[in-house]
Amino acid sequence: MSVLVYTESENGKFKKNAFEVASYATEVARQMETSVTAISINSSENEELGNYGISKVLNIQNDALNVFNASGYAKAVAKAVEHESATLIIVSSSADTKYMAPLLAASLKAGYVPNVVATPESITPFTVKRTAFSNKGFAYTQIATDIKVIGVSNNAFGIVENKTEVAIEDFDVSLEDAIFNTKSADIDKVTGKATIADADIVVSAGRGLKGPENWDMIEELAGVLGAATACSKPVSDLGWRPHGEHVGQTGKPVASNLYIAIGISGAIQHLAGVSASKTKVVINTDPEAPFFKAADYGIVGDAFEVVPQLIEKLKEFKAQNS
Ligand code: FAD
Repeated sequence: MSVLVYTESENGKFKKNAFEVASYATEVARQMETSVTAISINSSENEELGNYGISKVLNIQNDALNVFNASGYAKAVAKAVEHESATLIIVSSSADTKYMAPLLAASLKAGYVPNVVATPESITPFTVKRTAFSNKGFAYTQIATDIKVIGVSNNAFGIVENKTEVAIEDFDVSLEDAIFNTKSADIDKVTGKATIADADIVVSAGRGLKGPENWDMIEELAGVLGAATACSKPVSDLGWRPHGEHVGQTGKPVASNLYIAIGISGAIQHLAGVSASKTKVVINTDPEAPFFKAADYGIVGDAFEVVPQLIEKLKEFKAQNS
């Protein structure tokens, strides 16, 4: 069984999850005593994959793929799968990839399992552990098809350095216009900030903040920590924060190393989307707030007193340790 890993990039730069799936694929290939090939689309830093055990990269440079497009990307990856005769395709479980991977799997007649959190339990039958029931449990899922596609959850495996000599092979794909059943005409993206998907730390706030005018301290805390900002659903519904910050069951999933929830009650729909985060810190005035049951660390206190003190202490710590 040969392994192919799709490594995501944007504007020529790999996303953090590219290095995680590369590390994961290297380990799986080692267990299966086979080799791994990475496929990269419009990246200008392919050599970097050699830091994570990748010895061969199929380098696609194609202007039609400058902006992510699920059907176009699925077709390009499928061509690489055919070229390599790969039978196991490893991708991330990012929002983009979750659009692309089902199309890829359908075109390859492959079984697809997203949200995988560990290396395979067994190769024959091929069984993977994935999250289930909105992250409240795990399922051990067997894939019976000859070709298999798995999506690895962010931060489930981590980035493992493993310096390897890497060969970069240009791989031309011609994509007919008809493949692109949708096209992004214009993209208006927030720049210069850590994104929720890539951030190691996410600072999130809820209705306990009382109004949009109080978000300066949340932004400042996120700035000190190099974190992305997020919010609960009512906060974005009320227009206090942009919809792109809404996390939870109906918003973006968060699988950061540290999730700080400030003035968020911890409703089941919120927890469903953030419980994959490794360490959860909760700041809430109500000791009975449900979030405390899911928290690793909790501060019962007023956000307007706690957050400024936290910022001050973190600044002091940074100054002493820089
Ligand atoms: P509240 O429930 O009003 O909680 C505010 C919290 O702030 C309270 O715990 C309070 O004690 C605390 N607080 C108040 N003042 C302070 C202070 N000064 N300092 C510190 N703490 C303070 N919600 C999501 O977030 N994401 C989703 O994806 C989502 N999807 C949903 C899907 C469906 C189908 C439904 C029905 C609901 C969904 N919800 C979702 C809504 C969810 O049920 C909750 O209503 C929502 O998460 C509550 O947001 P909140 O915690 O910000 O507000």
